Amino acid sequence: MELSRELPGAQTGGDGNANAYANASGSGSTNASSMGRVHALLDELHASCSRPWTLMEVCGGQTHAILRHGLDQLLPPQLSLIHGPGCPVCVTDAARIEQALALAAQPEVILCSFGDMLRVPGSSGTDLLEQRARGGDVRVVYSPLDVLAIARRHPERRVVFFAVGFETTAPATALLAERALAEGLTNVELLVAHVRVPPVLEVMLADPACRVQAILAAGHVCTVMGDGEYGGIAARHRRPIVVTGFEPEELLRGILAAVRQLERGEHRVENAYRQAARPEGNAGARALLQRVFRPVDQEWRGLGMIPAGGLELRPPYDALAIRGEIAANGAEVPPPAPAPACISGLVLQGLKKPHQCPSFGTACTPERPLGAPMVSGEGACAAYYRYHR
Ligand code: SF4
Repeated sequence: MELSRELPGAQTGGDGNANAYANASGSGSTNASSMGRVHALLDELHASCSRPWTLMEVCGGQTHAILRHGLDQLLPPQLSLIHGPGCPVCVTDAARIEQALALAAQPEVILCSFGDMLRVPGSSGTDLLEQRARGGDVRVVYSPLDVLAIARRHPERRVVFFAVGFETTAPATALLAERALAEGLTNVELLVAHVRVPPVLEVMLADPACRVQAILAAGHVCTVMGDGEYGGIAARHRRPIVVTGFEPEELLRGILAAVRQLERGEHRVENAYRQAARPEGNAGARALLQRVFRPVDQEWRGLGMIPAGGLELRPPYDALAIRGEIAANGAEVPPPAPAPACISGLVLQGLKKPHQCPSFGTACTPERPLGAPMVSGEGACAAYYRYHR
């Protein structure tokens, strides 16, 4: 494994399905041929599914697409979907959030990150937006490379990028590290919280309590990394893994492929997203990751320590890293307190649905989130709230 330690529907068929999808997705914008293919896929799915199966879509983007288009209400009644941990904001370790908050409180620091990270509450309920209101210099960037321009403009300040995301966003952080070193920008620092998908699947599927019988792998991660890391996981855990996209047709193709394998008793890797994801992934992005990062054991919020579940900078790029539990200037970061009244760990493991959380829609809403899955644009709780599940 190249990235191992060395990185390597309504319940009816026919027109009922098509009409429900049209209502869910907006019939005016759905062209007839796409509707026809969705219709056919749903019919095939209903005809293929002879008994109860439980599938997990890994990516939060897939969860939102499934709910937005109402696909969950169109699937055969025997088919259950578990929403996986594929929301990087949701699984970012609470200790990293505390570090970011501590850094943002320091006057010499400019703390940069993606917008969603600014609203994730720390153990005291404070988030980076509040830290900014108290005077912290916290900035939203749209690309990690934006950090370079900020660092050039402010050579007297420490410019820290809080880097989160899966293998999809890690290459851009790697590029930032390469360019910062090449330019000699000594004021750039990286607080790295990138996570890797295959190790967490390995851990989840090894759990005897795991109900997931097939995995819909995140198509965009495979666009970067390929599907080579999944063969061993599918074989070891005897679960089909289907690389799946994000549009209704792509999702239904992935679900159908998984159901067909389950019905036949197969468990192999299958690519239902060939238009974007090649088996070998993106060679340039993989090489960049390989140069800059190596796998490291990483705490995932709600899921615990995942062996090789994160990335750390390798030499010489580790010169840019903020290390250990010390945030900056020797200030020790306190251990995070347990989150109040938030069952996001159970949601992220697929053991509870968001609406089963006592705080859902009452104490916890997108305007006043208690946990990261209600903050993020890819969080399951935000999806259930937005699409009224
Ligand atoms: S609804 Fe809010 S409090 Fe409940 S699990 Fe989701 S994020 Fe946590």
